[in-house]
Amino acid sequence: NKTWILRKRPEGEVKEGDLELVESPLEPLKEGEVRTRLIYLSLDPTNRIWMSDVDAYLPPVGIGDPMRGGGLAVVTESQFDGLSPGDIVNTGLGSWSLYSTHSGQTLTALPKLPGVPLTAFMGPLGATGMTAYFGLMDIGKPKAGETVVVSAAAGAVGSMVGQIAKIQGCRVVGIAGSDEKCKWLTETAGFDAAINYKSEDVGAALDKHCPNGIDVNFENVGGKIMDQVIARLNDFSRMPLCGLISTYNATEPVPGPYNFSNLLMRRTLVKGFIVIDYFPRFPEGMQQMAGWLMEGKLKFETDIVKGLENAPVSLSRLFEGKNLGKLIVEVSEP
Ligand code: NDP
Repeated sequence: NKTWILRKRPEGEVKEGDLELVESPLEPLKEGEVRTRLIYLSLDPTNRIWMSDVDAYLPPVGIGDPMRGGGLAVVTESQFDGLSPGDIVNTGLGSWSLYSTHSGQTLTALPKLPGVPLTAFMGPLGATGMTAYFGLMDIGKPKAGETVVVSAAAGAVGSMVGQIAKIQGCRVVGIAGSDEKCKWLTETAGFDAAINYKSEDVGAALDKHCPNGIDVNFENVGGKIMDQVIARLNDFSRMPLCGLISTYNATEPVPGPYNFSNLLMRRTLVKGFIVIDYFPRFPEGMQQMAGWLMEGKLKFETDIVKGLENAPVSLSRLFEGKNLGKLIVEVSEP
């Protein structure tokens, strides 16, 4: 087997030597167990959170332990009645390992949906799709005619948030880090407007594209971008607080938000959430998202890197904004 082990807590960005790829023999399976081979490993901004010794929503990965991560895998051996070799499963909170052993009861085979590629189960029908769906619908509660702003808009979560908000009849403005991403948002994903935060004055662009203010801020980034959005929220606006990627590599306390008082003046609902809390409702979210996907209402992109050995170095793509859509490592052939 091959497994990435966390050797050191990174300072700032993940560097060579923070993780080590270790080879080990496979143990025989016990009754009720299933062996899987990883096909796609999901790389997520939260991988960086899990490497730090911070008080987060899950305990940090221990030093010397396999790196935690989700993905899709194929069953290669089974001592469990409900699964057979060839079945494709979502490994949930698995590890950065080529092979893994699971209790068969914790896995279910993925449904086969006509015309839907396997990669959709890493994006719209995976954890990032569920994050977008439940964060927006449950907390953002968008109403037709309202204005929704989403940051990291061309990423895995943000691209789904904007398209779901369009389906709800909202005006949707995305904030992203390149002209290419902004073009994809308006020309392919159907956003009403997109702002390149690296080349535009975000506040002025928000004033231009959100003439009626902002009703929902789906927050993925934090920092200066979040401050500009908070300053333009409407009365009784909602702010699903999904992520703060601009802070995950920080080595010092992060100041702000400076426009915090506006959340009081505007009576904004701010709610942090973690998608794993919605796990019992995933079937509902997947059914809705699969329906929209098959109707052609959701466009999605993947940024695929090949080889388990490239997992740690590829994580930086998320922090440098190199990915359009869901960042995936293709570990083995589907
Ligand atoms: P993305 O696919 O959106 O990739 C991250 C993107 O963030 C990059 O492509 C980059 O795009 C942008 N970015 C990176 N650094 C900065 C920065 N300093 N300032 C502004 N933008 C930045 O990743 P995900 O869709 O997986 O995650 C998006 C957010 O959602 C993250 O904050 C993540 O932690 C959070 N999340 C939360 C979950 C939950 O349960 N609460 C579940 C899943 C994700 P650009 O080129 O535009 O800069």
